[in-house]
Formats: sequence, C-alpha cells, structure tokens
Amino acid sequence: RKNWNHTLSILQEFQIESSLSISRLRQIVDAMTVEMHAGLASEGGSKLRMLLSYVDNLPTGDEQGLYYGLDLGGTNFRVLRVQLGGKEGRVIKQEYEEVPIPPQLMVGTNEELFDYIATKLAHFVEKEGDGFHPRPGQDRELGFTFSFPVKQLSIDSGCLLKWTKGFAISDGIGKDVVQSLQEAMKKQGVNMRVAALVNDTVGTLAGARYWNEDVMMAVILGTGTNACYVERAEAITKYQGETPKSGTMVINMEWGNFWSSLLPKTSYDEDLDSESLNPGEQGFEKLISGMYLGDIVRRVLLRMSEESFLFGTEVPPSLFKQFVLRTPDLSKMHQDESSDLREVGRILKHALGIANTPLKVRKIVVELCDLVTERGAKLCGAGIVGVLKKIGRDGSTAGSRAKSESGRAKKTVVAMDGGLYEHYPNFRRYLKETVEDLLGEEAYANVSVELSKDGSGIGAALLAASHSKYN
Ligand code: ADP
Ligand code: MG
Repeated sequence: RKNWNHTLSILQEFQIESSLSISRLRQIVDAMTVEMHAGLASEGGSKLRMLLSYVDNLPTGDEQGLYYGLDLGGTNFRVLRVQLGGKEGRVIKQEYEEVPIPPQLMVGTNEELFDYIATKLAHFVEKEGDGFHPRPGQDRELGFTFSFPVKQLSIDSGCLLKWTKGFAISDGIGKDVVQSLQEAMKKQGVNMRVAALVNDTVGTLAGARYWNEDVMMAVILGTGTNACYVERAEAITKYQGETPKSGTMVINMEWGNFWSSLLPKTSYDEDLDSESLNPGEQGFEKLISGMYLGDIVRRVLLRMSEESFLFGTEVPPSLFKQFVLRTPDLSKMHQDESSDLREVGRILKHALGIANTPLKVRKIVVELCDLVTERGAKLCGAGIVGVLKKIGRDGSTAGSRAKSESGRAKKTVVAMDGGLYEHYPNFRRYLKETVEDLLGEEAYANVSVELSKDGSGIGAALLAASHSKYN
C-alpha cells in the first residue's frame, strides 16, 4: 500500500467522489429551488432560512443627501459617508475609514462592543468636512451592515440569532442590534437615525443595483458564502405583512446552510465538519467558501502522507494542524505555470515545512487544488442557476422569455463580492463555465456574473437613503 500507486488511488477516489456531472448539477439546481420554496413557505421549513430583509425599496440612483454607513462583520469594521446627488450627480463625494475590532471586544460584552463602535463613529462624524451636508431640515441617517444572522421585524430593527466568525458575546444574543447601536450613539452624542439594518449580501445587492437596475442577485464568496435576491412579495408565503409598494422584497437566503443528499460529500468533508466549531451547520459553505477549501486539500494530503508516504516515511507534523493550508495558498499553487512548479514547492516549504518535493508530488498537489476548487465553484454556479430558475431568469420558463418594453430579452446581473471570487481566477472560471453550461448559450447571453467590489458598506448607506424617513 505504501507506494505511489496508492497515492494515485486516493487521488482517483477523491476525484470520483467529488465530481459533478452536468446531470447531477441540474438536480442540485432543482434541489435549490425546491428548498427555496420550502423556506419561503414557513419559518423552519427548510435548512435555507430565506430571511426577510424588509428591503422593499432598492436604490434607483435618484437618492439625494448625506448618508452614513457602518459595516461590521469581520475583523475590521468600516465607517463611511456619501453625498448623493441624484441621477445627475450620483456619488458626489465619499469618505471611509477602516477600524480593527480589538479581539477582546469580540468576546466581551454587548455594551463594550457597541460603545467602541459608537466612539469610532463619533470621531469620524466630527471630521465631516466641506461638501457633506444633509438636506435642509433633515437629520443624518445611517445604514448598518451587520453580517451575522439576525431575525428582522422591520427594515430598522432585528434581533441577533447567533454570533459567527469568532465573535462570542453571550449577552448580545436576542438583543435588537439597532437599539444597542442607537443607545451607544446617544451616549457619544451622535445624533443620527439608523434607517436600515442589512447584512453584507443585501448591501452588495443594493450597492450594485444603484448603478444597474438589472441586478437581481448578490453572492458573497469570501471567508463564508451567502446569497440574496429580489423576490416577488406574493411568492413569500410566510410573509404576513403589508405588500410593499414595489411588490418585491429582498430575501437573505443564508445559503451557506443549504443541504441536499445530492451534494458530493466525502469522508474528508465529514471530518472537517465534525471537527469544526459548528458541526452539522453551514454544509454548503463548507464545500465552497474560502475558510474551508485549503483545509480540504490538507486533509487529503494528510491521508496520502499517512498511507503512502507522499512526503517521505514520516508524516510532516504541520499536516495535522487545522487550517495551516489556506485558500490563498491554493490559488497561488493552482496558478503556478512554471515547468518545475516552483511556487508549489515554495508554498509546501513555507506553509507546511515540507522541503525538496519532487515534481510528481507537486503535480498531485496542484491536481487536488483543482478538484477542490472545481467542486466548490460548480456548486456555487448551480446555486446561482437555482435562484435564476426560481425567479424565471434562467431561460426555461415563459416568464424568462418575457421581453422588456424595448422588445429585447431581460438582462439579469448577479453581483459577486468577496476575496475568494476576487482573487481566485480558476474558481471564477469554473463558476462562470458552470452557469453557462447549465443555462445554455442563449439564456447565458442575457445573464452576467460581475464582480461588485466593496458594495456592502456603501450599499447600506444607499439603503438608508432609499428607506429614509423623509422620503
Ligand atoms: P470576509 O469574507 O471575511 O468578509 P473577504 O471578502 O475579504 O472577507 O474574503 C476573505 C477570504 O477570501 C479569505 O478568508 C480567503 O479565504 C479568501 N481569499 C483571500 N485572498 C485569496 C486569494 N488570493 N485566493 C483565494 N482566496 C482568497
Ligand atoms: Mg466581507
């Protein structure tokens, strides 16, 4: 067993178990739409939570005035302000600051966290200079991007369901995050109303929609993954409230938690899940997002190393460490075009402490990067097509063949953001190829998957404008 053939058989087994034929992908597309229907029908009806965002008024470009944005959801938070000048002036002026969250505040108390945020916001507001001014007689308003799962009851309120991404502030759970922020702002003497509470996906959608009304969906592919899209209010069966004037509402899918028995889960994925901080949760995310791809490759390398001496007779100790191999390492190795795979060799040495790897070993590593990335990107592509199908923009239903007033078929734009999508060209390529293959040439001609960078912060400010109390 401890020979090269066994390495190849482990590789081949992984390839077979993780491969996704076009017919399997089509089944996954359908599973996604089925789960979407179930999640829209009732609370808890699906692993897809399909959360109401209460965003029923996406920005159009007509917004005017001064708005603030606050973006919290990772290791940094951002404060920003925009002066909007309507269709003509658009974004007249914009400023932002990025502030790190001190790690002790991520595990402290709710009050400490929000006091800190409000202090930084107060400093930023003090520096408001020429060219920024609210409309006469109006107070400043703020949009708050808060990228943790929240149960919203209106556009400007929502209770925290759980922390993720290393935050653990137990007295925050169940509290209204807008109220917490508003109270902290009051203590700092910041006179501003929180007009909109959104997550980063919804912020990205709004940021892209401001410039292009064909944007119907946004996907985050970073540390984690999530998606949101514009749904017809009448299709949201579980929604009991008033039908919005626009007739639509943005749904935050929380698609990282999607699951179907059709998904190609291997023993490596099972181990990754059971050793994770949230076993049994975020199954789709664990096959797709930047936090996990590198660790899946590590797990296969570990098995190859243990069972067939891939890296010599001793298993390199680094291979036992969770998350030592990071997704940025994968993308660098995957893009190595040198004949001796020099970059792969360098990363194996620096990230894993494995020196002098022969070329055939480096080739195996690249092959694994390719398989793991291909699987993740294809699943994400199938997810996107599932959403397009649900809203009749996949070219398969009568609705999607409906022509716009100009007589041309409707365009649909999917706005993408996040470090994985932005910095991993092979991931992007597999994703787009999958969307194209699933839609077919004709329908794909009317769909565009586009990077929409850093929309989530400005998107929140734009949503504060489109949901302003002065409108
Ligand atoms: P977040 O998701 O935390 O808001 P980002 O959108 O910036 O932040 O995404 C960061 C994630 O993107 C990282 O955790 C990493 O997984 C992935 N990433 C960053 N750079 C690269 C890269 N060069 N290649 C592949 N993935 C990357
Ligand atoms: Mg982000």
